[in-house]
Order: sequence, then structure tokens, then C-alpha cells
Amino acid sequence: MVALAAPGESWHEDTTREEVSMKIQVDWDRCTGMGMCESLAPDVFEVDDDGSLIVHAEEVPEGMESDVREAVAACPTEALSLEGE
Ligand code: SF4
Repeated sequence: MVALAAPGESWHEDTTREEVSMKIQVDWDRCTGMGMCESLAPDVFEVDDDGSLIVHAEEVPEGMESDVREAVAACPTEALSLEGE
């Protein structure tokens, strides 16, 4: 006899963290445009001339996880966080 999953029962597969994309979250009320994030991950973060932060990627680009994590940790106002870590 073969056991089948009941209707509505989900089959949970193990995924590694590397396979899960991380989204960059910005608390815009906290960001003061200090630019620490830009200095650590300039391909992702940019502070324009009037001090406004521009985020060039909604999700952390492949190969930039380390730089973006450092930028998140270095933000003096804790305006940055990662979703899906
Ligand atoms: S380091 Fe933080 S406060 Fe500064 S620009 Fe980046 S997100 Fe904004």
C-alpha cells in the first residue's frame, strides 16, 4: 500500500539558505542618508546629492550577500534589514 499526502497537506522540502533570496528592507523613517551602506555595497546602495538613499536592487544580488550584510550591520540608524535570512 502506498501512503499519499492528504488533500491540503503540504510537502515541505528542505532548502538551503543560499537558495532563498533575501530582500532588502529599508525603514525610510530611520534612514538619514549617512551613506555607510553605499561605502560598503556601492552596487546596491547609493546616496544622491540631496542625501536620499537609492536602493538599486530589491533582492540581494548573487555574490553580494556578504557586502550587503556588512552594510546592513553598519547602518548607524538600523534602517536596513534583510528579509528571508
Ligand atoms: S547607512 Fe543607513 S542611514 Fe545611512 S544611507 Fe544607508 S540606510 Fe540610510
